[in-house]
Amino acid sequence: MAQDNTCNCTRRECAFSGEGCLCDMLDRAGVPRDGKWRTLIFYMRGLGEFSTLSDGQKARIQQLLVDVLNRRDFSEASYHDVLRADRDIRVEPYECRMREALQETERLAREFRAMLHQRRGDMDRLEQDSVRAVESGLDPAEVVRLLRATFSEVREQLENDAARVGELTVTDPLTGLGNRRAFDAALAAGEAAWAGGTPLALVLFDVDRFKLINDQHGHRIGDQVLRTVAEVLRRKVDDCNRSVGEGAGECASAVARFGGEEFALVLTGEGALRAGEIAESVRAGLEGVSFAIRDGHGQVVEHGVRVTLSAGVAHARPGLAAPLAESLFDLADKALYEAKREGRNRVRVFLAEDDGQPK
Ligand code: GH3
Ligand code: MG
Ligand code: MG
Repeated sequence: MAQDNTCNCTRRECAFSGEGCLCDMLDRAGVPRDGKWRTLIFYMRGLGEFSTLSDGQKARIQQLLVDVLNRRDFSEASYHDVLRADRDIRVEPYECRMREALQETERLAREFRAMLHQRRGDMDRLEQDSVRAVESGLDPAEVVRLLRATFSEVREQLENDAARVGELTVTDPLTGLGNRRAFDAALAAGEAAWAGGTPLALVLFDVDRFKLINDQHGHRIGDQVLRTVAEVLRRKVDDCNRSVGEGAGECASAVARFGGEEFALVLTGEGALRAGEIAESVRAGLEGVSFAIRDGHGQVVEHGVRVTLSAGVAHARPGLAAPLAESLFDLADKALYEAKREGRNRVRVFLAEDDGQPK
């Protein structure tokens, strides 16, 4: 049987013999010469190219590879365990979002039920007041006046309810910032304004190594960190609005949390022109915050915990593919990916020359 020049295994026995001496390496590690295990190991080894996975996910999947090679257990059961663990790591962010969406739905349902309950009470009161007014033998003009006043009070409450419901559906319950829906609406509005000549930019922020914070300090502290990030964002946008001055418009049309530890700013007008500067001031603002970790009784158990953010910025410009909102999101996401790749805790602005398009 013909031997590969660079690899001891034969082409017939191993489909990967063209890959230099990888087959030799797998032989030495005791990996059986079947396509199943070798495909799995090549997939785990080549994760660097998978842009859909975060670095944290890649590191965890690669650790699975290290564990399996150390264990040298290439049984059927071990194969399925690895597949299961790999799947769990890949779906974790989606599960997290599904859980969040469910929690939000439950919260909204609770609020709606409470409102309905209250309004049912108001309706009962309206009925009783009306009957009492008619039965009291008052002057008809006075009865009409009383009924009008009660109806108008109930109508006002219903209008407040409608406004409150509208607000609830666009608010992130954890941070009080806009949610994904608010973000989508602001980006669509920004796109329409840009068509009319108003500058538009998008900044995506992602907390660095946030999984570690959850792992080391627990989910409750993780949530506190997210609230602090939201506060820094809100403050920086307020600063920007103040510097733009009365009547000159706002810097951001949305300050949103659109995923677990991901935040976004939709910047318009003056804010869009200063997008890089605003993103940098948010990054530096959070870098300057020192967190104290408290136990369940409020006692400080750790001082000086630092959290950093990476950010990707993209500006709307002619020549971007339609729909503009999607192109802008992709470019900001690419810039964010670069910021992560270059070491995190930094802002990257996507420049026109990065994709060879005119500025
Ligand atoms: P990177 O620097 O590459 O962004 O690393 P990372 O650890 O931040 O990224 P990764 O995507 O691996 O982890 C994000 C974590 O965010 C995983 C998930 O458990 C956590 N998370 C998502 N939503 C919430 C939330 O509402 N509260 C808390 N405490 N954690 C959350
Ligand atoms: Mg993330
Ligand atoms: Mg992150």
